[in-house]
Amino acid sequence: DCRSFCVWGIGREATLAIIKPDGLLGNYTETIKATIAHSGFKISREKVVQLDEEGAANFYAEHSTKKFFHGLIKYMTSGPVLVMVLEKENAVSNWRSLIGPTDGRKAKITHPDSIRAICGADVEKNCVHGSDSPQSAEREISFFFDTPSGSQRGGDDEHDEL
Ligand code: GDP
Ligand code: MG
Repeated sequence: DCRSFCVWGIGREATLAIIKPDGLLGNYTETIKATIAHSGFKISREKVVQLDEEGAANFYAEHSTKKFFHGLIKYMTSGPVLVMVLEKENAVSNWRSLIGPTDGRKAKITHPDSIRAICGADVEKNCVHGSDSPQSAEREISFFFDTPSGSQRGGDDEHDEL
């Protein structure tokens, strides 16, 4: 399925990864980037963003009716995040496997080698994000970065390509 990200190469897929505020504050960036590198991903774009409430609510619009939504927005706006576009074959499912289950506390038991097992505290503060499908990845990447097809975006493009 070849849409706006085809220019990045046949067989390659892109996903959006975020090191959330607790991940950045806890100094997990180097460890997480080492895992990214060892797993064969190319980081094609990255920037540090301070999300505001509107931006975080837009990004997580699918969860707007959930009871944890307010807490999630508070968490995601509590400090800067590092947003990255990761590229490789099967990037979406590969990155989801590497980060592990949503609940960092459960991850320590069921997926002890996962990123969320290492830096996630609980079901909310789980230190990293990963797109859940190629369709989500396309939406989430264009939320933060200019894409060949343009369309909607968010965040602060002044810090593009750090
Ligand atoms: P993900 O795709 O694994 O990140 O999980 P979801 O898309 O279901 O949820 C988005 C984010 O909301 C998660 O990464 C958590 O930070 C938070 N979250 C998810 N479920 C819960 C929950 O049951 N309680 C709380 N407090 N936060 C949650
Ligand atoms: Mg999700």
